[in-house]
Amino acid sequence: MRADIADKIKELHALLPKGVTLIAVSKYHPKEAIEAAYSAGQRDFGESKAQDLRIKREELPNDIKWHFIGHLQSNKIKYIAPFVHLIHSVDSLRLLQEIDKQGAKVGRKIPCLLQIHIAQEETKFGFTPNECLAMLAGGEWRNMHNIELRGVMCMASNTDNSEQITNEFATVKQLFDEIKLKYFADDDSFGIISAGMSDDYKIAIANGSTHIRIGSDIFGSPEI
Ligand SMILES: *Cc1c(COP(=O)(O)O)cnc(C)c1O
Repeated sequence: MRADIADKIKELHALLPKGVTLIAVSKYHPKEAIEAAYSAGQRDFGESKAQDLRIKREELPNDIKWHFIGHLQSNKIKYIAPFVHLIHSVDSLRLLQEIDKQGAKVGRKIPCLLQIHIAQEETKFGFTPNECLAMLAGGEWRNMHNIELRGVMCMASNTDNSEQITNEFATVKQLFDEIKLKYFADDDSFGIISAGMSDDYKIAIANGSTHIRIGSDIFGSPEI
C-alpha cells in the first residue's frame, strides 16, 4: 500500500508537464499514507475539513504546503489561517471578508482562489461566472489587505462525457483570462487555475490547468 502510493507519486511527477503542480488530496486518509507520498517527494497536500487539516499539520513535517479544498465555514477559518498555503474554495464575498479578518489576526496575507460553479450538479459550491465577475466589479476585495487573490478553482461535472468536461474547463479558462486581463494584468501572483481530479486531470491540463487535485488515483478510495 505504502509502496503503491510512492510509486504513483513518482509516476505522476514524471508525467506532468512543467508548470503544473500536483496536489495530493489526502482527505480521509491517515498520516501514514501522507508520509508515503512525502517520502516520494510530494510536498503539496489537500484537505477538505479544517479540523482534520489542523491535526495533520501538527503530526507531519512542517515543510508540507497545505491546501484547503473543501467547503469552508466562517467559524472554521481560524483553525487554518496561521499556516494554510492556499484556500481553493472561496465561494462568497462574505467568506472572503471573514478570511481577511482572520488573516489580519494572525498577521498574514492569505492566498485564495475563487471557486467557480461550472458543473451541472446543484450540490456543488461556487460563484457562477457572472456572479464572480459582479463580485470583482464591486471592488470590495480591493480593501482587503490580508487576502491575496491568486486565481480560480473549479470541479467539472461528474460525467463520462468528455466533451462536456472539456467545455466546462474551457469556460473556466476563458473566465480566468477575462479576470486576469481586467483586474490582474500587472499582477504575476494571479496565475492559478486549480482544475482536474483523478478522472479528468488530463482534460484539465489540456485546458490550461496549473494545479491538479488528485485523491483516489494516488491513495485509493477512502474507507468512510
Ligand atoms: C476529493 C476532492 C478531490 C480529489 O478527488 P479524486 O477524484 O479522488 O481525485 C479534488 N478536489 C476536491 C475539491 C475534492 O473534494
